[in-house]
Amino acid sequence: MKKMHIETIAVTSTVLHDNNGSVTPPLYLSTTFERNADGTFPENGYIYNRIDNPNRRVLEKSLAILEHGADAFAFASGMAAINSVFQTLRAGDHVILPDDAYYTIFLLMEDYFGAFGVTSSRVDQSNLEQVRAAVQPNTRLVWLETPSNPMLKLVDIAAIAKIAHEHNALCAVDNTWATPILQNPLVLGADIAMHSTTKYFGGHSDVLGGALIINENAKLGERLRKIQKVGGAVPSPFDCWLITRGIRTLPLRIKTQSQSAQRLADYLNKHKKIVNVSYPGLKSHPQYKIAQKQMSMPGGMLSIQVEGGRKEAMGLTRRLKLFTHATSLGGVESLIEHRTSVEGDTSTTPESLLRISVGVEHSADLIADFKQALK
Ligand code: PLP
Repeated sequence: MKKMHIETIAVTSTVLHDNNGSVTPPLYLSTTFERNADGTFPENGYIYNRIDNPNRRVLEKSLAILEHGADAFAFASGMAAINSVFQTLRAGDHVILPDDAYYTIFLLMEDYFGAFGVTSSRVDQSNLEQVRAAVQPNTRLVWLETPSNPMLKLVDIAAIAKIAHEHNALCAVDNTWATPILQNPLVLGADIAMHSTTKYFGGHSDVLGGALIINENAKLGERLRKIQKVGGAVPSPFDCWLITRGIRTLPLRIKTQSQSAQRLADYLNKHKKIVNVSYPGLKSHPQYKIAQKQMSMPGGMLSIQVEGGRKEAMGLTRRLKLFTHATSLGGVESLIEHRTSVEGDTSTTPESLLRISVGVEHSADLIADFKQALK
């Protein structure tokens, strides 16, 4: 058969057959599984829920296919997935982090892993010279997040993966905002693609999850599988079931969300009360060329800076009717969030910045809502 399209793959990769002809994947809640009569474990079967279960296995299979990877690992949250990558490091190792990223990654690396002797540098990775200059003899991991949260900075995955490999370091990419539908880090040369599946994969703001997908690398795969099974930060079967269900409509949702975000960004970019719009689909975006090179669409996330400051930004969130002021992103409902007030004291995000997650409502209604709220 001809190579299938991503919409078809999203449906066919999430099938889990049972003996009853179930069309949608059945949900296996059992924490334990019977051994063979001779006391051995069934070949390729299951033993115990933390180690593996049918719902996790079908989710991981689908994740690997969607990201063009060799293997995938599902976790209880995006942070649990990131934590598991960091747990592959040793005392004395050094990590290059982005200067803009989901803020909890800095707390995890600097506060927690810092205490175990792992050092790190925050670098403006949109400048390749700065990345090269930050490499140390003990650099083992270069962590990217593109587009980044909340500034929508983009970095050149292929170029940075090359620099990492020249220095014997791994390159990991948080691909949460783009999803594998719009960007494939492993195809671009990265070693690990990471997702908070809480966001676009789940797609309905009702499940937490995380995932790692890796290129062929037996040593890394073995280590991550061990961390997953022994560390135990695993998703429940129902979490896996919900995320697997989300995958079936992921291509449809993200394409609609990206088209609507582009229309909203175009509108807001011309509005006199909005002083800046960060969106990779705008020609004014500083890394517009990178977006054109490595993303098939610019995605459903944008950040705006409101004329004035915190007060005006907060006022706008109150006047909007279709955008709920709440954290998180990637669901079917549009959300808006004042980021500094959630990021806390260490935040470097401007006070006037609002982050927007565009849902699947009609773009004309979303634009009309901004029109009335900005009057
Ligand atoms: N990475 C990015 C880019 C995120 O936006 C988030 C959450 O907002 C995370 C990771 C963390 O994911 P989770 O909340 O599922 O732990």
